[in-house]
Amino acid sequence: MNTTETLESMEPTPTVTERPCSVAPTPKEIHRFLSQFVIAQNVAKRKLAVAVYNHYHRIDYMKTMPPYGVELSKSNVLMVGPSGSGKTLLAQTLARCLQVPFAMADATSLTEAGYMGEDVEHVLLRLFQAAGEDQEKAERGIIYIDEIDKIMRKSEGPSLSRDVSGEGVQQALLKILEGTVAQLPRRQGKKHPSDDLQPLDTSHILFLCGGAFVGLDKIIAQRILQQAQAETQQGKDPSLDSLDLSTTELQKRMLPEDLVKFGMLPEFVGRLPVLAALEELDHEALVRILTEPKNSLVRQYKQILAFEGVELHFSDDSLDAIAEKALQRQIGARGLRMIVEEVMLDVMYEVPSIKGLKELHIRREHVVGSEALAEQWEHLA
Ligand code: ADP
Repeated sequence: MNTTETLESMEPTPTVTERPCSVAPTPKEIHRFLSQFVIAQNVAKRKLAVAVYNHYHRIDYMKTMPPYGVELSKSNVLMVGPSGSGKTLLAQTLARCLQVPFAMADATSLTEAGYMGEDVEHVLLRLFQAAGEDQEKAERGIIYIDEIDKIMRKSEGPSLSRDVSGEGVQQALLKILEGTVAQLPRRQGKKHPSDDLQPLDTSHILFLCGGAFVGLDKIIAQRILQQAQAETQQGKDPSLDSLDLSTTELQKRMLPEDLVKFGMLPEFVGRLPVLAALEELDHEALVRILTEPKNSLVRQYKQILAFEGVELHFSDDSLDAIAEKALQRQIGARGLRMIVEEVMLDVMYEVPSIKGLKELHIRREHVVGSEALAEQWEHLA
C-alpha cells in the first residue's frame, strides 16, 4: 500500500458540519475551528481570526457603502515563523473554515510577467480554477504566498547589490494586493491576444503571506537596543530586559520598519497590515500535533490499520521519541510525518500478510532502532 497516497487521500474534505457557523463566523468560532487542526500558535490564530472576520465584514460593507462612507482597508496578513510551524496549515484551514476557494504559490517561483517562470497572474488563475471557474466565488477567495522573505532586496535603501528580480516580483504582487482587475488567460501558457481573457478583480481577495525571515530577530534586537541607548542618554531608565529574548519573542515585537530594513518595499509592508509571529514548536507541541488534531498522524494510521482489523497503539515514550527526532531535524512539525512514515513503512509492509493480528504496539525502541520492529515481525510470523 502506498501510505503517502493513502494519508493524503484521507485529509478531511470540507463538510458542512465542519463549518462553525453558516454565514459569518465570529473570531471565536474561527479560532475554535482552527484549533481542531492547528496546535499552539494562539496569538497568530487570534490575529488571523480577527483579520478574517473584519475582511468579510468589509466586503459586505463595501458593497453597500454610502457615498463618502469610511473606506475600510483590507486586512492582508504577514505570518513570520520558522519552517514547519504551521503557516501554510493555518492558511489552508482558514479557507476550509470559511469554505472559500484557496490557492497558494511559492514566492521564489514567481516572476514578473514576461520572464521565465510562473507569472504572478497564474496564482489568480489557480484561484479561479479552485473556485470552479466561478468569478464571484474566486473574488472572495484566499491566496497564500509562501517564502515571501526570499524575494527581498538584499539591503535597505538604494544600493548596487539590490536584488532587482526580487523587487520586481514584489512590485507585481503589490499590484494584485492593492486591488486590480487582472486579465487571466483562460488557457495555461503565455497570453495571446486571441486567447479569451477572464477578468478577475483582486480587491476582495484575502492575501496571506508567510516566511521564516531568518535574521529579522537581529534587526529587531538592534532597534530595541538603539531605543534603550537613546533612553539612557535622555537620563531615562532603559528597559533592557528585552535584549535577551528568543527569536520568537523578538519576532513578536516586530514593527513594519523592521520588515523594511529586512528588504521589503515599504508599500508592500503597508499592504500587509496584520503581522503575526508564529512560535517555534517545542517538544510538547510536537507530541500534541501527533495525537490531537482531527486528522493527526496517529489517528490516520490507527484508521489505516483498522482497515486490516488491527488496533494500533503508540506508547507515550514512542511519541516522545518521534518528537525528539523531529526537533533534531530542525524542520518543525514537517519532520513528524517523515519520521512516522519511516517507522510505519515496515508495519504497512508486514501487517497485511500476518493472519490473526489483533493489536500492535509501537514503543520507543521502534522509533530509535528499526531492529526492534524486525524482531517483532519474526516473533509474529
Ligand atoms: P510552514 O508553512 O510554517 O513551513 P506547514 O504549515 O507547511 O509549515 O507545516 C507542515 C506540516 O506540519 C503541516 O502540514 C502539518 O501537518 C504540520 N504542522 C505544522 N505546524 C503545525 C501546527 N501548529 N499544528 C498542527 N500541525 C502542524
